[in-house]
Amino acid sequence: MDVDYELVNQTKGFLDHAEGLRLRDMAAAASSLGACLEIGSYCGKSTIYLGTGCKKNKNILFSIDHHMGSEEQQPGEEYFDPELFDPDSGCVDTFKQFRKTLKNAALEDTVVPLVCRSEVAARKWSTPLGLVFIDGGHSFETAFTDYNVWARHIVHGGYLLIHDIFPNPADGGQAPYDVYKLAMASGLFKKLPTTQTLGVLQRYECGRLVK
Ligand code: MG
Repeated sequence: MDVDYELVNQTKGFLDHAEGLRLRDMAAAASSLGACLEIGSYCGKSTIYLGTGCKKNKNILFSIDHHMGSEEQQPGEEYFDPELFDPDSGCVDTFKQFRKTLKNAALEDTVVPLVCRSEVAARKWSTPLGLVFIDGGHSFETAFTDYNVWARHIVHGGYLLIHDIFPNPADGGQAPYDVYKLAMASGLFKKLPTTQTLGVLQRYECGRLVK
């Protein structure tokens, strides 16, 4: 389950190494329960960690992103990266970088990219999931939709991970944290320790009483 640190370091993204290693370890555990799925793959940094974990059980990581950048990555916005702007289409395009990352990380037999909005991919979904990692758009509407359409596919004992959890509003946007709190309030999940801004919840086993 070695992660190629050089590749990680040269891959664009917003993920701390400690969070990445937690993703890898959770995917390694979860991939014995079902396939794993991430929302918001961007250039593939988190995909390297999750995909490496999935390899342990020869399972699959579905990686969803429309690859046109989220709200805050558009021209003129705080996280816009001109290197990822495609002048031909006039849009941000992260798919090219993402494919390069998959190739360089030798993950082409592990990762299935789904290039669309997450709720479109969810429309006909029926594969049970051992892990769902939500790291897509950071508006409440987008983050809540991701939770709403994917959490139901997590198997009992499987995991829901949410990135960019900031309990203190001064540290960052509140939408992922609000969704994290909603997930806990649902009574379906138990809280596991967080790693920096990575929230980790586990779906209760079937028949277990929720306190
Ligand atoms: Mg994030």
